[in-house]
Order: sequence, then C-alpha cells, then structure tokens
Amino acid sequence: MPTRTLPIPQVMRALGRAIEDHELPAIEKIAEARQHHAFHVLISTLLSARTQDATTHAASERLFGVADTPTAMGALAPRQIEKLIYPVSFYRNKARHVRATCRLLVDRFGGQVPATMEKLLTLPGVGRKTANLVLILAFASRDNICVDTHVHRISNRLGWVKTRTPEQTEQALYRVADRRWWADINLYLVTWGQNVCRPIRPRCAACVISRWCPRVGVR
Ligand code: SF4
Repeated sequence: MPTRTLPIPQVMRALGRAIEDHELPAIEKIAEARQHHAFHVLISTLLSARTQDATTHAASERLFGVADTPTAMGALAPRQIEKLIYPVSFYRNKARHVRATCRLLVDRFGGQVPATMEKLLTLPGVGRKTANLVLILAFASRDNICVDTHVHRISNRLGWVKTRTPEQTEQALYRVADRRWWADINLYLVTWGQNVCRPIRPRCAACVISRWCPRVGVR
C-alpha cells in the first residue's frame, strides 16, 4: 500500500520540473533518437552497467553503426564487438553477453525483443534493472520501476526506503510509491544523481528537493 506520509509526489513534481535544465541520461537519449526501438534500448542498457554515460553513448553508436539488428550483431566475432564497445567497463564480458543475447533473440524470439520480464530475464547479461528499463522505454510500461545505483542511493538518502541492495530498493519502492510515479522514478533520480545528488559530495545547497530530504547517511 502506498504510504501517505512520504512526500514522494512533492519530490517527483519538483524533480520533473528541475530535470528539464539537465541533459538526459544516455539510454534515454538513445531511446529518443531511435524511436524507442527495443533492440537499441536493450543493447545500450547492457553496455551501460558501471560505465559513464558519454562512454555508453559513444560505444552504442559505434556498435549500431556496424550492426543494427540482432542477426547482424550476433554474426559479429566477440573480438569485433569488444573493439567497438571499448572502453565500457567489463567490455569482454559485455561483448559475450551482447552476442549471445542477439543469437537468442534470433533463435527463440524471432529476432524481436520480448516484452515480458520473465522472457527478458532469460537473455544473457539481462537482470531486473535492464529488463525494467526496456519495458519502460521500449514498451511504454507504467508498471515497472528501474533501480540502478542512483535510484538506490537517492531513495535511501530521501528516507523513502531503508535497503541494502538495488533489488531490495525496487521491491520497497513498489510498496511506498504510488503507481503513477513508477515509470518516471528512474529518469528523475538518475538525472538528479548524475548532476546534484552525486555519490560523493552531493550538492545539497543547490538541491530543489532539500526541504523534503532527511539526507540519510549523508555526511
Ligand atoms: S538534499 Fe542532498 S542528499 Fe537530499 S536529495 Fe538533495 S542532494 Fe541528495
């Protein structure tokens, strides 16, 4: 049951206005530029783990420039994919996952990205974060919350949740946040996390949601 004591609507409305002054996160940018195409959202999200946005964006564009479909990308040699996506973090593992995912898309899903959590989780390298973002950005789902390190950190600082892992945060957010905010939580908190509520030295003095923030764990 959504709680009425947390100022989640106030925070979300304020962030919705404030993020207009900031650049979109890389995956959102790629999704917009590529008409929310599920394959592009899936692959760029796979590349994005623990990687700076600018690096993710450039690597995704290099890869799509050479292979733009599951069939074409699955036919690339792992070494070729590694070269195209370098220097994203864990580029060797990610290259293997990208290739294996493309082949599975062709073999099991007719070359299409599946539109359910259950099926997305069968793809190599795809966890709940990636699956949720694909469902939100490519399939316009309003029923999912995508939790990455920014969402996990800020939700805890705001006192919305008290959790140790992003997976716990996702489940806790379903309980405390009204459904109408679910799909926007990632965009709003990631943008805020990259620009204001940074992991180290958050800019609390310049934060438009500071009046609602107990700054849990912030020194
Ligand atoms: S007040 Fe500080 S800790 Fe709270 S959301 Fe803003 S930047 Fe983050």
